[in-house]
Amino acid sequence: MIGSPVEHSLSPVIHNAAFASLGLDWGYFAVVVPDGEVLRAVAAMRSLRLAGMSVTMPHKETAAVAVDVVTSRADRLGAVNCVSWRGTQIEGDSTDGAGFLDSLRVDHAWDPTGARTVVVGAGGAARAVVAALADAGAREVGVLNRTPERAARAAALAGSRGRTVTADAVEGADLVVNATPIGMGPDTRLPVDPDRLGSGQVVADLVYDPLETPLLAAARARGAVPVTGIGMLVHQAAHAFRAWTGEDPPVEVMSAAVVAALTAR
Ligand code: NAP
Repeated sequence: MIGSPVEHSLSPVIHNAAFASLGLDWGYFAVVVPDGEVLRAVAAMRSLRLAGMSVTMPHKETAAVAVDVVTSRADRLGAVNCVSWRGTQIEGDSTDGAGFLDSLRVDHAWDPTGARTVVVGAGGAARAVVAALADAGAREVGVLNRTPERAARAAALAGSRGRTVTADAVEGADLVVNATPIGMGPDTRLPVDPDRLGSGQVVADLVYDPLETPLLAAARARGAVPVTGIGMLVHQAAHAFRAWTGEDPPVEVMSAAVVAALTAR
């Protein structure tokens, strides 16, 4: 993994647990790479014959131009979080959106087809979620964000189904997603008015530390289905694992490892 900072990343825990579980003699390491060094990090992958790399902040956009080729979804987002080999070429992909959809479909047997959805936030994670929800057939993808211009740019990723919305849209949504850092760590704020949440809704928080964020606690208390950010974290890693090793990822092992690491913090 390349990024800065990377010290607190849970990705080494997830991938190393998966390698050990399958008996693969592989290792996953987080390396601090400063700005301006991404091109050389990709070149190092080629010369060292590394099987792959994860890319995290602040390098996701730079990596999209540093690799040889990008997948169509990475191209659309202008961001790469997973780098692997395609023949002799180094390919950049974005697995966050697919990971998010898996957290809904696989972990909660909930499909966004035909759903009215609201995504709070318009940064990298929100953009991946917006594009994935539109591709998955959501009827409407509303974006609610502090900075309206960024909301409009994110909503455009959903094409005709994307639009910017105001806070009242949360009330009629089938799915509400928090893609801001609000509620992380000691932050006890909520990204939406909890009284707009209720039964029949699915409420997903991309924040996974704490495991039960103030938003998820409020959603649960009002009868909504809470979805933690662990699912997206693990499933996006599972997509990377499959791309690098060609093996089926041991998702339950990966999930247990990350929950244990978070609980021990
Ligand atoms: P980002 O690119 O920095 O975007 C952050 C977004 O949150 C922006 O839209 C920003 O609004 C909004 N925001 C930040 N602080 C705010 C505040 N105090 N009030 C209102 N809005 C605020 O970050 P990101 O990479 O998209 O990540 C967003 C969150 O998702 C983080 O908590 C991250 O840990 C989490 N995440 C989780 C996963 C996972 O696998 N579970 C994956 C990726 C990210 P403006 O546009 O107005 O600045």
